[in-house]
Amino acid sequence: MADEDPEKMEYDVVVVGGGPAGLSAALYSVRLGHSTVLVERGGGRAAMMANVHNVVGTTEDVSGNEFLETGRGQLESYGCDVRRDVVGSAERDGEHFRLSGDDADYVADAVVLATGFTDARPDPPLPRTGRGLHYCLHCDAHVFVDEPVYVMGYGETAAYVATIMLNFTDDVDLLTRGDDPEWSDEADEMLATHPVDVIDAEVTGVRNGEDGWLEALEFADGNVREYSGGFAMYGSEYNNGLARELGCDVNEDGTVAVDEHGRTNVEGVYAVGDLTPGHNQVPVALGEGAKAGISIHWLLREFPRDPDLVSEEAPVRSEEAPGIPDELLERAAESHTYDD
Ligand SMILES: Cc1cc2nc3c(=O)[nH]c(=O)nc-3n(C[C@H](O)[C@H](O)[C@H](O)COP(=O)(O)OP(=O)(O)OC[C@H]3O[C@@H](n4cnc5c(N)ncnc54)[C@H](O)[C@@H]3O)c2cc1C
Repeated sequence: MADEDPEKMEYDVVVVGGGPAGLSAALYSVRLGHSTVLVERGGGRAAMMANVHNVVGTTEDVSGNEFLETGRGQLESYGCDVRRDVVGSAERDGEHFRLSGDDADYVADAVVLATGFTDARPDPPLPRTGRGLHYCLHCDAHVFVDEPVYVMGYGETAAYVATIMLNFTDDVDLLTRGDDPEWSDEADEMLATHPVDVIDAEVTGVRNGEDGWLEALEFADGNVREYSGGFAMYGSEYNNGLARELGCDVNEDGTVAVDEHGRTNVEGVYAVGDLTPGHNQVPVALGEGAKAGISIHWLLREFPRDPDLVSEEAPVRSEEAPGIPDELLERAAESHTYDD
């Protein structure tokens, strides 16, 4: 028997990715009156945050998962569909875009790609993520002020991050773990002229305190070195497959090329957050999502109607307004905050 066709779900906007960038784009889209679905497969970088730093209004006892759950709840309260699904492919479908997930096909007039990237992880043994193993300097350098830290890696970024950590502490080791350094001569000179110890020996064990935080690493040369934590710098694997399938320009480093509104070169397709160039931070991702959501509203909103259309057809009648789907209208009317 032939497989059944997947369920086809139609929206104005489909957002792929439920991290801060996708949540923010979807929040603007639905609150500006567009039927919106957010599709996310779970995980992502925001879900890795043990504590959320740098987000004004969010205290640091909040974890990434709690932050995301609050965001999903906000979206649902405004009538956005939030679906757990993996989008495996994307294509243009006439005037629309079709994104195919495991559970359904999502058809929409505009697409926001907020699929982020995956940090390449070094091999174990490793400290626990967020408890001694970190990936984000702007998030966590502050945690290690005046503490012994390591940077793991053998490339240009690892060399630079090691010297940048000297802004926070005078005790920095760069752990190449037996890999041949691939940094440039310039970076080599920089390391030679800064107080960073480059350690070649492989890591063989991890010692954690009772609270789960890293205390020391064991090395193949028999040494045990104390660290409060450190950063792994092995590069980023961009989740840009859907962008490529839709014909979006992709930069050499794997980021998707966008303008200041998050627009790609394909009209109606936006990319935001870590998937795009710029600082990889929650507030930046939120801002980019907001800009894309507003730009989508400019693209899709009904009024003012195109003057050519008005002259071809007829002036807009008041019965045609408001230009917002009934379901979103009812929800908005029910939840007017001035009624509280
Ligand atoms: C350990 C760690 C700690 C951090 N701490 C902080 C911090 O304290 N403060 C801060 O500002 N920044 C922090 N960052 C950076 C921050 O997490 C990112 O900049 C931010 O999450 C980027 O948001 P995003 O929405 O672009 O991507 P992500 O948060 O990575 O979200 C990507 C989303 O895409 C979805 N997805 C991908 N592909 C598909 C697909 N095919 N189908 C469906 N869904 C898909 C995933 O499910 C996920 O929901 C940290 C990063 C890490 C790794």
